[in-house]
Amino acid sequence: MNKPIATVARTNEILKRFDLNAKKTFGQNFIIEPRIVEKIAESSQCQDGAAIEIGPGIGALTEQLALRAKHVTCYEIDERLKDVLSYSLEEYDNVEIIFEDFLNCDLKTKVNELKEKYGKVVIAANLPYYITTALLFKIFEAKVPLDAITVMMQKEVADRFTAKVSTKDYNALSIISSVYYDCVPVMKIPRTIFNPKPNVDSAVIQFRVKEQPLHIEDEQGFFEMVKACFKQRRKTIYNNYREYLKDSELAQSILKEAGIELSARAETCTMEDFIRLKGVQDEKKSVR
Ligand code: SAM
Repeated sequence: MNKPIATVARTNEILKRFDLNAKKTFGQNFIIEPRIVEKIAESSQCQDGAAIEIGPGIGALTEQLALRAKHVTCYEIDERLKDVLSYSLEEYDNVEIIFEDFLNCDLKTKVNELKEKYGKVVIAANLPYYITTALLFKIFEAKVPLDAITVMMQKEVADRFTAKVSTKDYNALSIISSVYYDCVPVMKIPRTIFNPKPNVDSAVIQFRVKEQPLHIEDEQGFFEMVKACFKQRRKTIYNNYREYLKDSELAQSILKEAGIELSARAETCTMEDFIRLKGVQDEKKSVR
C-alpha cells in the first residue's frame, strides 16, 4: 500500500518521476499535508454518494474522496497530468477524470446523471485561485441539485461569503450564493502546506443547501441585475443600475419605487432590497 499522495515524500516522488513543475497559469499549488485532504474529504458529505472534484492536480484530494465516495468525477484542464494521474490513482477504480476546462463542462447533465446513479452528489475542491469566482458563479448559476459544495480558496475570497451587509467583503457572490445555500466555515489553512507555497493563506468553506431556498422567479435575470449593481463598487447603485438598464429615467423610478436611495451603494442593500428591486423592474418593464 502506497503512502497518501499528500505526503511530502509521495508528492516529491510523483513530481520527480514525471519531471513535473507546477504551472502558475493553472493556479497549481499541491497540498502536502495528508490531514488537510482527509478533513476536506471527510467533511464533504461524499460518503455513500458521488463527488465531483475540480482540478485534481496529482490526486491528493481525489484519493481521499475515492476512499469515501462511491464514485469520483474530476475535471482537469492540464493534459500533462494524464499519465501522472493514471499512475498516482492506479489503485482506485471508482475515479473518472475528464480533461476539460470546468468552465466549459456541461455540469447540469453530469450532475443529473450522477444523481440518478448514486443518489447524492457533492462538489469538493482545492480551487485554482485565478478563477475561483468564475468557477463558483458557474456552479451557483447552473441551478443543479448538489447536496453540498466544499471548497478551498484564498482566505480573503472565503470571507466574502460570510460577509454581512455594509461590510467591505459583502458583494454579488454573497447574495447569489445565498439564494440556495448557507455558507459554513470549515477551517483555515496556512500557506505552508502547499508545494509551491502561495503568497496567501486559504480557507475551506462549505455551502449547504438551504432548507427553504428563496423563490426567485427569473433567477438568471436576478443574478445579472445583482452583478450589475455591484459592477463598480465606488459608484452608487443608481449609477451602476442605470448603465445596466441603459435608461437613467427608468432606473431612477424603479429604485425609488423599490425604496432604495439613489445615493446608496450596492453593499448597503440586503437580499430583500434586491428581490424588491427585481420585482419592481419586472413590473415596470412589462408595461413598457
Ligand atoms: N487538488 C490538487 C491539490 O489539492 O493538491 C490541486 C489543486 S490546484 C490549487 C488547482 C488545480 O486545478 C490544478 O490541478 C489545475 O491544473 C486545475 N485547474 C485550473 N484551472 C482549471 C479549470 N479551468 N478547469 C479544471 N481544472 C483546472
